[in-house]
Order: sequence, then structure tokens, then C-alpha cells
Amino acid sequence: MTAPRLLILGGTTEGAELAERAVERFAGRLDVITSLAGRTQQPRPLPGRVRIGGFGGAEGLSHYLRTEAIAMLVDATHPFAAHISSNARRACARAGVPRLILQRAAWTAQPGDRWIEVADAIEAKNRVREFGQRAFLALGSGELAVFRSLRNVPLVVRVADAPARPPLAGAEIVVSRGPFDEREELRLLRKHRVAIVVSRNSGGDGAYGKIAAARRLGLPVIMISRPAPEPGNTVTSVDAALDWIAERLGA
Ligand code: NAP
Repeated sequence: MTAPRLLILGGTTEGAELAERAVERFAGRLDVITSLAGRTQQPRPLPGRVRIGGFGGAEGLSHYLRTEAIAMLVDATHPFAAHISSNARRACARAGVPRLILQRAAWTAQPGDRWIEVADAIEAKNRVREFGQRAFLALGSGELAVFRSLRNVPLVVRVADAPARPPLAGAEIVVSRGPFDEREELRLLRKHRVAIVVSRNSGGDGAYGKIAAARRLGLPVIMISRPAPEPGNTVTSVDAALDWIAERLGA
């Protein structure tokens, strides 16, 4: 008899940790497949099977769930990856596949933080324009594109992979892949004479260094709030996701 199949929608630290621990804990009882969008040039190796690339919307994903006989799905995608999470909700409903959302908790402001909370990248860009001083952007490509219309404000942009062409004309580009700790971030903010940090409220530890460093330097942070979460059963830890899988396996 073949083992039931788990599909993890990944691309995050939590998704990778879940794949690693699920393969180990449910060895021989679960077939683990991780799906990646294919944005990263060299994704970290994962145990279990890995498939790469889009499914073709909710319909494509629902077709995949049926043809691959997926028994359960964990949506461990990034809190700002809204399309795939919406597709996952609709596809699972259509295919009758149980779905769990694994999403790390959002950051909350600490004493000493100077956050300016904004709803989206457009509002963040408007705030940077008003501020008018050197801004550090640690954002996804979707949010970065919004800053293209910003003129006359010096920008420092960090990207994970060397881009084929500059993501923003005239910006200083830093190519570096996280996680980043507070010390490294302090060095970077000082070196580039950053006056304001623009961040998404991603949560987790790997991207928190710049928030702690900004607090230490007394810099304001324009914090972009998360998109509205998808409805559905949600956990914030890999342990809780493993328990959900165990329950479904009757293990
Ligand atoms: P998105 O806007 O929600 O997704 C755009 C499209 O990419 C989806 O409609 C889907 O294409 C495909 N896709 C996304 N995640 C996929 C996955 N895990 N497996 C297969 N196809 C996937 O997402 P995004 O913001 O571009 O992020 C893409 C991936 O990078 C996500 O998996 C996310 O976990 C990871 N990531 C994103 C961020 C971020 O800043 N947003 C940060 C870290 C990691 P089809 O409609 O064709 O299926």
C-alpha cells in the first residue's frame, strides 16, 4: 500500500523545517512533497520529493491535488504570498483535501521601536517620499516594483539573488541572503548611512535583525502590515503542524 501524500506549499524556513521533520517522524507512513515557486536560484536541499513551478492558478492546483492523490496540504508559504494561499484555499475546497495554514506570528513593536505602520507598499512609498532621506528597502519583488515611481530619494535595496538588471534605477543594491543577525544589520545600516528602514511584517527570527538594529540606532521603521490572512485552520509552529499531520494519519 502506498503511503498517504502530504503536499507542503513551501519557500519558507518553516516549510523546509516541516519537510525535514515530517520525513523523519513519519518515515514509511507519509510521502512528503514540497512545492516551490522556483523564484530562488539555489533552493536549499530538502528531504522527500520537491516539485518546482506554479500550478496554473487554483484550478491547476486542484487538478494536481486530484491527479497526485494528495491526502493533506500544509500551506507554509510566506505571509505576503497572498495569491498561492488563496489558490490553496479554493483548490482544497474543490478537491476535498484537508488544508492547514502554517504561518509564523507577526512581530509586535517593542519599547524603543519607532514604527510607522502602513497598510501596503504604496503607502510605504508615500511615507518614504515625505521623509525624503536615505531608505533601506528589504522587500519582495512585488513591493519593490511600487518604488519605481519614487524620485530623488536615495535608496538602498537588498535582494537575495544578483538581479539581471537593477530592480530600481539609481538605487544601491546589496545582494545578500538571510538570515541576518542584529550585528550584521547594524553594520549594514551604518555603512550605508540609512535614515529609515522599510520592512514587511514578516515575523520570525531570520529577518528580525534589521528591526532590532533600527531600534538600537533609533531609526524609524516603516512597517508594512500583512495582507488579510486566508480563513482556515491556522497554526504558528512546526510542532503544531506535525501534530495536525499525526492526527490525520491516526498516528
Ligand atoms: P504569490 O504572489 O502568492 O504567488 C504567485 C504565484 O506563484 C502563484 O499564483 C503560484 O503560481 C506560484 N507559487 C507561489 N508559491 C508557490 C509554491 N510554493 N509552489 C508552487 N507555485 C507557487 O507568492 P510570491 O510572493 O510570488 O512568493 C512566491 C514563493 O516565494 C512562495 O512560495 C513564498 O512562500 C516564497 N516566499 C515569498 C516571499 C515574499 O516576500 N512574498 C518571501 C519569502 C519566500 P500558479 O498560480 O501558477 O500556481
